[in-house]
Amino acid sequence: MNYAIGIDIGGTKTAIGLIDPTGHVLAKTALPTDHTVSPHVMVDRMAAAIKQMMAEHQVTEADILGIGVGAPGPLNTQKGEITAPPNLKGWWNFPIVESLKRHFDYKVAFENDATAAALAEKWLGAAKDAEHFVFITISTGIGAGIFSHGKLLTGVTGNAGDVGHFVIDPAAGTCVCGQEGCWEYVASGTAIARQATDILGREVTSKEVFALAAEGDQEMKALVDKVFRYIGVGCVTLINTLDPEKLVIGGGVSQIGEPLFAAVRDYVSKHALNPSGRNTPIVPAALLQDAGLIGAAALIHVDYK
Ligand code: ADP
Ligand code: ZN
Repeated sequence: MNYAIGIDIGGTKTAIGLIDPTGHVLAKTALPTDHTVSPHVMVDRMAAAIKQMMAEHQVTEADILGIGVGAPGPLNTQKGEITAPPNLKGWWNFPIVESLKRHFDYKVAFENDATAAALAEKWLGAAKDAEHFVFITISTGIGAGIFSHGKLLTGVTGNAGDVGHFVIDPAAGTCVCGQEGCWEYVASGTAIARQATDILGREVTSKEVFALAAEGDQEMKALVDKVFRYIGVGCVTLINTLDPEKLVIGGGVSQIGEPLFAAVRDYVSKHALNPSGRNTPIVPAALLQDAGLIGAAALIHVDYK
C-alpha cells in the first residue's frame, strides 16, 4: 500500500497520521506542541511517533510515498522554513523540511495549513467538482486556500491566501499585523469573543455569543449580524478578485451553520459586482474531523502544482 505521512503542526498540538490514497486514516496520533523545547526536539518526537505508528501497523519504508506537512504561516515553502507564525514564536525561521530529513529519506511536501485544507476539500470534500474555488477558514483567525485553473495558488513563498488581513473596517482597531480593522480582527472567533466581552463587561466565548443571540439578546444579535455582514464583505472581495465557481467555508465559527451561510449568501447576492458572481454557491466544508491531517496527506497524494 502507498501511504502518505501527514503532519499538521498547530500552536497547541501537532497531529500525525498515515493516510492511504483514498484518504482513509489508517492511524493517527497527536503530540502536544511543547513550547519549552526547541522545534528540533519536537521533530525528534514526531519522528519517533511516526516510526512507532509504522511499526504498529506493519507499514514499511517501501510503503511510504512521502511526508506532507501543513503549518501555520507566515512560512517559506521555497526554503522549507516556518517563518513567523504568531502562535509558534519559538519556531520562527525554523527549517522544518531539513529537520525532518534528519530522520527520513522521503519526499517532503510543505504548505500553509489553509492551502493544504483547500486541497483536501478538492480531493475528498465540498469542492471535488470545482476547478476554481476558495476555501475560507473562520476560526481563531481567518485564512484561505485558493484553487484556480485546477491548481493550488500558492504564491512565490507559499503564503497566498492570507485573506484574514484584508482591511474591512479601518475604524475597528489595530490588528496583530499592525493594520487597522483586518477581516480577522472583526470577524474571527477571537474577534466575536473580544467584541462581546467589551459589550457585556464579562468574558464570553464566540459560542456563547451565538447562543445568547439565538435566545433573543438584542445586543448579541446585532453583533452577530454585523459579523455575518463582515464575512459577506470579505466573500464579495474574494469573488470580485478571483471569480471562483464556489466558496467553501470551514473552521470553528462555521459550525454555527445555516444562519451564517444564509446571511453571507444574502450579502453576496446583493453586492458581488458580476451578476453571475452574485449566485456563487457558498457551502460548508465537508471535512471536519482530521481535516488538517488529510490536507497534509493531500500534498502527497494529489498532484497540485
Ligand atoms: P483553530 O483556530 O485552532 O483551528 P477552530 O477552527 O476550532 O480552531 O476555531 C476556534 C474558534 O471557533 C474559537 O473562536 C471558537 O470559539 C469558535 N468555535 C468553535 N466551535 C464553535 C461553534 N460550534 N460555534 C461557534 N463558534 C465556535
Ligand atoms: Zn491584520
